[in-house]
Amino acid sequence: MLSNEDIRALKRANPLADVASRRGLDLRRSGTSYVGRCPFHNDQGRPNLSICAARDPADDFFHCFRCGVGGDVIRFVRLLDQLSFREAITRLEGAPALASAQPRRATLPRSGSTPGWAAPERACLAAAVTLYQNALLDNGRALGYLDSRGIDRATIERCRLGYAAGDELRRYLAWRRLPIRAAFRLGLLKPGGRETFAGRIVVPELRAAQPIWLIGRTVGEPGGDTLKYLGLPGRGRKPLLGWESAIGQPCPVIVESVFDWLTLVSWGIAGLALLGTRVRPPVLRSLARFRHFYVALNSDQAGQDATALLVDTFGSRAVPIALPGVKDISELAPLPDGRERFLRVLTWPARAAA
Ligand SMILES: [Zn+2]
Repeated sequence: MLSNEDIRALKRANPLADVASRRGLDLRRSGTSYVGRCPFHNDQGRPNLSICAARDPADDFFHCFRCGVGGDVIRFVRLLDQLSFREAITRLEGAPALASAQPRRATLPRSGSTPGWAAPERACLAAAVTLYQNALLDNGRALGYLDSRGIDRATIERCRLGYAAGDELRRYLAWRRLPIRAAFRLGLLKPGGRETFAGRIVVPELRAAQPIWLIGRTVGEPGGDTLKYLGLPGRGRKPLLGWESAIGQPCPVIVESVFDWLTLVSWGIAGLALLGTRVRPPVLRSLARFRHFYVALNSDQAGQDATALLVDTFGSRAVPIALPGVKDISELAPLPDGRERFLRVLTWPARAAA
């Protein structure tokens, strides 16, 4: 009789994505997950099977967003080969050993502005990002909006952008057996149970490939009292968006909004979004870690004031940029020569360092 620990060790030696690949599934990496055609229904068109590669492969799981099947590697083998639990175990025990049964991803040190969530909250946040990512790929309106803003598929995948349909999160968390209460504590669900980001494009801040925070934007311009942007409320400061891609760069570009930052990502330029123009002391402390940085905030009064504050604080280390005939960088994203026009105004010092 196998103990729980024996079963976890067996799963650890048989990461789900490896098992699925060996069984002929064509998997494509998407963030920390893999996507492929579901072998349990006639999966035409866009692939619906998602395999989550957990930090510990013993926790890997799969889920089909179309037919709804899911579970761990043992269930995968049982369903695929029509086996009993015991037969599936025997089959996995006979599988070729894998190079590494150790946890696969190293953990990066957290930066000062990382909200310190507990494990249940982190798991809920990661699950929400997975759900929202898949929902975005099914939502023509949200995809069309991103396209109109010049944000391409590669950027969508790299940044793990998502869309909150608004009526799926509770069911999904229950299916994943994750605590709904943690989703309330995070602010993913509002009192009463409605999803905070319902109807919004959702952008996670990723640290060591894990989401630590989310911000959502309306699809198109909001009407009435609706806020264009909504961050995850509650505990934890709003982080700087894009921290890991900027840290260690000789001269990242500091921008104002989510879409300015997505524009930089799509152009392959290191940057960081302040998510507003209020430059508080923690932001200044974070920026102090860069030897130089460009400041490319909006050309309006609030943007100019924040730029002046940064130049006053950091002197010649902060290099302000005059945007080439636009209000903000994101306006350049849909233009065929947008990147070129922007690179022309980057004169010093990153051009030399790049
Ligand atoms: Zn399926």
